[in-house]
Amino acid sequence: MKIIKHEIPEKLITEDGIRTDGRKPHELRPTKLEVGILKRADGSAYIEQGKNKIMVAVYGPRELHPRHLALPDKALLRCFYRMASFSVQERKSPAPSRREIELSKVIREALEPAIFLERFPKTAIDVFIEVLQADGGTRCASITTAALALADAGIPMRDLVSAVAVGKVDGHIVLDINDLEDKYGEGDMPTAIMPRKKEVTLIQLDGRWTPEEFRQGFELAIKGCEQIYQLQREALKRRYLEIREQAAKEMEELAENP
Ligand code: ADP
Repeated sequence: MKIIKHEIPEKLITEDGIRTDGRKPHELRPTKLEVGILKRADGSAYIEQGKNKIMVAVYGPRELHPRHLALPDKALLRCFYRMASFSVQERKSPAPSRREIELSKVIREALEPAIFLERFPKTAIDVFIEVLQADGGTRCASITTAALALADAGIPMRDLVSAVAVGKVDGHIVLDINDLEDKYGEGDMPTAIMPRKKEVTLIQLDGRWTPEEFRQGFELAIKGCEQIYQLQREALKRRYLEIREQAAKEMEELAENP
C-alpha cells in the first residue's frame, strides 16, 4: 500500500529565489484556459493553473425560482463555488462548507461590477464553479474562469475580470501562490481587477504586511492580473475562431444539400 505524506519543505524559497515548484518569485504557474467546453450550458470555461483544475458553467439570464428572490431592477447573480470530494488529498466532505459559502460570495462580489445586470431585471444568472483539483489560489482562478464563461454565454459585460493571488513567502513577495505557499507562507493577497477599466473588484489581505510590502504586493498583483488578462483574451479569440469555422462549415453543408 502506498501512503502519500504531505511533505513540508524546510524552505519555501531558496537563496537564489527559486520556489518549491521551480518558479521565480514573479512568475505565474503554467496556465491553460479553454472556453465553450460544455455544450449544454449557455456559457462555459475551464482552467488549469499549475495543479488547479476548475470548470465553470453559466446559465442565464433565465427565469428565477423561487420568484420572491427576483430583483425588480436587475438580474440576480448567483455563484456556487464547490470543491469535489477528490479535489484535495484528504477527502473533502460533499456537504457545502462555510469556506465554500464564503468563497461563493467573494467570487460573486468580484464579478458583479463587470456585468450589466440592470439590463435583465427579475432574472437570474447562475455561475456554477466546480474545483476538480485544488492547489491554492482557487478563488482567483475561479473568478478568471467565470468571467470567460459569462462572456461565452453572451452576457453583456463592461470588462472581463482577471484575478491572481500574491503572497509573502519567507519574506519574499511572490506571484500566484500554490497550496504549500498558501499554507506555510506568511500571508496572501487575492486580487481581481477589471483590466481595461483599471478598477479593482476584489482585494483581500491575510497575514502581516508592512505598508511597503503591501505596495510591492499590490503592484505585483496588478501585473499578474494583466498577464492573466492576455491569456483570457487569447482563449476568447480561439473560441471565436472556432465558432466562425463551425458556422462556415454549416453554411457549406447547407449549400451542398439545400
Ligand atoms: P484559495 O484556494 O482561494 O487560496 P484558501 O486560501 O481557503 O482559498 O485555500 C487554499 C488552499 O487550501 C486551496 O486552494 C486548497 O488547495 C486547500 N484546501 C482548501 N480546503 C481544503 C480542504 N477541505 N482540505 C484540504 N485542502 C484544502
